[in-house]
Amino acid sequence: MKINAECRICQKKPLVRVLDLGVTPLANGFLRQSDRDAEEPRYPLETYFCDECGLLQLVHIVPPETLFSDYLYVSSTSATLKLHFAGLAEDMVERQRLREGDLVIEVASNDGILQQEFKKRGIRAVGVEPAENLARLARADGLEVENDFFNLQTARRLREFYGPARAVTGSNVMGHVDALRDFVRGLEHVIADDGLVCMQVPHLLELVRGSEFDTIYHEHVSYFSLRAIQRAFADAGLTLYDVRRLPVHGGTIRVYARKASANPEPTPALLDLLYTETVEGLNDIETYEDFARTVERTKKKLVGVLSDLKLRGHRIAAYGAPAKGNTLLNYCEIGGAFLDYVVDRAPLKQGLLTPGSHLEVFPVEKLLDDMPDYLLILAWNFKDEIVEQQSEYFRRGGRFIVPLPQFHILEQSTVEHRD
Ligand SMILES: [Zn+2]
Repeated sequence: MKINAECRICQKKPLVRVLDLGVTPLANGFLRQSDRDAEEPRYPLETYFCDECGLLQLVHIVPPETLFSDYLYVSSTSATLKLHFAGLAEDMVERQRLREGDLVIEVASNDGILQQEFKKRGIRAVGVEPAENLARLARADGLEVENDFFNLQTARRLREFYGPARAVTGSNVMGHVDALRDFVRGLEHVIADDGLVCMQVPHLLELVRGSEFDTIYHEHVSYFSLRAIQRAFADAGLTLYDVRRLPVHGGTIRVYARKASANPEPTPALLDLLYTETVEGLNDIETYEDFARTVERTKKKLVGVLSDLKLRGHRIAAYGAPAKGNTLLNYCEIGGAFLDYVVDRAPLKQGLLTPGSHLEVFPVEKLLDDMPDYLLILAWNFKDEIVEQQSEYFRRGGRFIVPLPQFHILEQSTVEHRD
């Protein structure tokens, strides 16, 4: 493990520690049953704030090879995400007037969910994906994938081999990159002079507003405000000029940039959101101190409710085994004493145990056979989709506990009871 002394965007030091989520195992470190008793590696999960550029960040860095060589998060398992990526492809095609045969590079292409959308539209999309299992999956579907991490060196190689790209994109990847300055220089290098950079990241504003602390885990080393991205891009010769806000993943921003030499005009949407960030205190340390206190209260509330339900003899399971769920379970110290098991639709996770809490992951079909009294929704960002899929469980009297962004319980008798 490496410990950063300075900000990964503006290189300022020292940084200020704002929230300590304990020493926890990796959020994607699902275990085989046979490893149940093995010692799991644990790392400090502490967030630091840079009062120069506004980046919220981790400083304890787990080697990326440990995190991303065999990745269990597969985009295509979610119907919501399929729609989302179709929308992203359409947006880029229109904005950049992409035509048949144009080259788009996708960084961290996962199982190829977005590449498929470009392919349908006749556009050549080359993926760069460090996880070998995902690269293999995508290639089996006939997609072009480089099995590598993206950085300036990779960008040089791609540009030499494929030529300059008309656009480069990446979703939920910038937050994973420790050497961010080098990564952003790679984005600048890989595109043509009139090229478009279109990146999607969870927005720090939503994280703070909704106290979505469970999106904090070792893989996510940065939590971006628009202002921090603007600074990171500017340092690499890119000008951020537009932004769109999207509901996916509990609040995502899609940011657009071009080479500084193209001199793009900032849009009202960009200026508005920069202003909102200032007004809501994203640049002030006090905001993060408040955030830390709210997170502690959320833990007390959730553990209190679960303890009460157990005392009254109820059986509780959890829905969804996303990485974020493991931050929530481990920080709140929720394990087998509260939850019987977890269900998840991803076959890659079924049969494994959640890291730290050691709950077994079953296929979702188990719910109707077993009918637990309550279902804690760990993948709460897909709450509506989950409740709809599990309408039969709900109809038979099953109840949903939604932990974030506002704690509430969904049950038949009250339809929706907020607390
Ligand atoms: Zn900074």
